[in-house]
Amino acid sequence: MEPTAIDVRRPATANCPHCGASLATEAVDDGTTIVCAACRQSFVLGSGADARRYSRKALASLVLGICSIVFWCAAGIPAIILGVLALIDIRQNKDQLKGRQAAIAGIIVGCSLGVICFPVLLGLLMPAWQALRRAK
Ligand SMILES: [Zn+2]
Repeated sequence: MEPTAIDVRRPATANCPHCGASLATEAVDDGTTIVCAACRQSFVLGSGADARRYSRKALASLVLGICSIVFWCAAGIPAIILGVLALIDIRQNKDQLKGRQAAIAGIIVGCSLGVICFPVLLGLLMPAWQALRRAK
């Protein structure tokens, strides 16, 4: 279930970015221009707050990247794919999504551990392949 707008209530006060005065903002919506009672300068409510949510793909990429320490390419390859998809998502929805660093970390960890597993896999497959050749 997606969270509704009601779940993300803004605090009833806002701090003026110019003088730091605490102002009551209960009855106004985000995006409203407010004139500070203390310094008389105006600012847009909610513009300074980071309302973006974390990209789920970026988080999944990071988690899989960490999992690839144990599962190697079984988690490393999905970590790379999800990391790249997350970066595309974040680029297309800059004002709604964040998590670029998490996605990049997922890709880097996924790559480094996913690539390490190839020689190990080869090392495991080589004896089997040689045994097959000898059997011919
Ligand atoms: Zn002010």
